[in-house]
Amino acid sequence: MADAAPIPDVLVVGSGPAGAQVARDLARSGARVSILEQGSGPPPGTNLLKLLRRKEAMQIAPGVVLLRSLRVGGGSVTFYHTATPPPLALFARHGVDLSAPLEQVLSELPHAPLRPDLMAPVASRLMQAGQSLGLPWQPLPKMIDQSHCHDGSCPPEAFWSSHRLLQQAVKAGAHLHTGVQVLRVLFSQGRAVGVEARSNGALQTFPAGRVILSAGGIASPAILQHSGVEQAGNGFFCDPLRIVMGHLPIARAPQEISMSAGYFDADAGYMLSDITIPGNFFRAFTWAAGRPDQLLSYGHTAMIMVKIRDDIDGRIDTHGRPWRRFGAADRHRMQAGVTQARAVLRAAGSGKPYVSPWVAAHPGGSVRLGELVDENLNCHSPNLHVCDASVIPAAWGLPPTLTLLALGAYLARRISQ
Ligand SMILES: Cc1cc2nc3c(=O)[nH]c(=O)nc-3n(C[C@H](O)[C@H](O)[C@H](O)COP(=O)(O)OP(=O)(O)OC[C@H]3O[C@@H](n4cnc5c(N)ncnc54)[C@H](O)[C@@H]3O)c2cc1C
Repeated sequence: MADAAPIPDVLVVGSGPAGAQVARDLARSGARVSILEQGSGPPPGTNLLKLLRRKEAMQIAPGVVLLRSLRVGGGSVTFYHTATPPPLALFARHGVDLSAPLEQVLSELPHAPLRPDLMAPVASRLMQAGQSLGLPWQPLPKMIDQSHCHDGSCPPEAFWSSHRLLQQAVKAGAHLHTGVQVLRVLFSQGRAVGVEARSNGALQTFPAGRVILSAGGIASPAILQHSGVEQAGNGFFCDPLRIVMGHLPIARAPQEISMSAGYFDADAGYMLSDITIPGNFFRAFTWAAGRPDQLLSYGHTAMIMVKIRDDIDGRIDTHGRPWRRFGAADRHRMQAGVTQARAVLRAAGSGKPYVSPWVAAHPGGSVRLGELVDENLNCHSPNLHVCDASVIPAAWGLPPTLTLLALGAYLARRISQ
């Protein structure tokens, strides 16, 4: 056995936003909590080949790469800090009332629109251009504690990540085990009794009174399939995006805050915002778009992210490999968003905008509430829960982190009750 006695009351698999929140809240309520996290060591940077090797970048359709984070803190370590409130009615339809947990989360979390002095000149220009076209382009709420920000920039400690929740969880008595890849849930007489995991190259068993899978929209369904829940991973969404880029006669600031302003068009099923990507991604996208003339223009390129609400489709297999196709409705939404983004770039003064390949960043909807998961986020067994982007019950298209934090707080309340 990997854990010394006593056996934890709760084993949380994964330390992303949802896992960290449920672990912290349960530890504070007096439960013995262990967190098993696959990630360890320093973050690997943005080298695409390295990310592919580590399965933090995965091809999910011809020419479409999905990004995720297998690190302590999960996606909250690499995300863009945009805080979008959950669609409460969608969850209420499945018996999940997120209103009080959301209030709890918001009382602890910075979530204000960026101050004007923190918005980069390019982002301001794009916002003005959007507004000049009559679009509801506004500063977006950010999980950034702006009281730390001075002279137009924010230090690392201003940016929220679930590391904060993990520190609080550990302070409240939780144990965080890193470098532990959970493979399957173990059952006895219909109840979860722990998990089997690989750690330091060896298989280990971690017993527990209750198991919560928070390994994210790709890994949680794969673990469930290994545990005998074959329907897990049947269909998923991934909120694909393309970046529309154009040269502007404004120099980009060295450390721009991404997604500082933008808007959602719920009817059209897309979101537009300013975005900043690392230089190596910019060069790869520019090359793929057939614009070698722009390869040296990173410092003067304005970028607009077009992210769509894609249909639930495809499959995640037992090895955790996602595969899907994007149908006509998805392509139509993307085309409409790209056309709008081109118009904004032109209104901002950019000559010939061009478009990146598709990239996906929010895998979820793979173990859906109402189908495989009930209002206690139970799946398959009364003491096995799923609490992460997998349980989102329908096509999505929104930055999900605030919703996932509220889900974590919700599950902790249900279990404590
Ligand atoms: C570039 C980028 C920008 C983004 N920007 C935003 C944004 O601005 N706002 C927003 O709301 N969202 C954003 N997102 C999305 C957001 O980061 C994710 O949707 C969110 O982190 C998902 O949370 P989660 O709790 O479901 O799982 P994750 O954050 O994916 O966490 C899962 C955890 O489980 C661990 N794990 C996986 N498999 C195993 C296993 N077998 N055993 C043990 N541990 C395992 C992982 O290492 C990880 O720590 C962005 C995503 C990307 C890629």
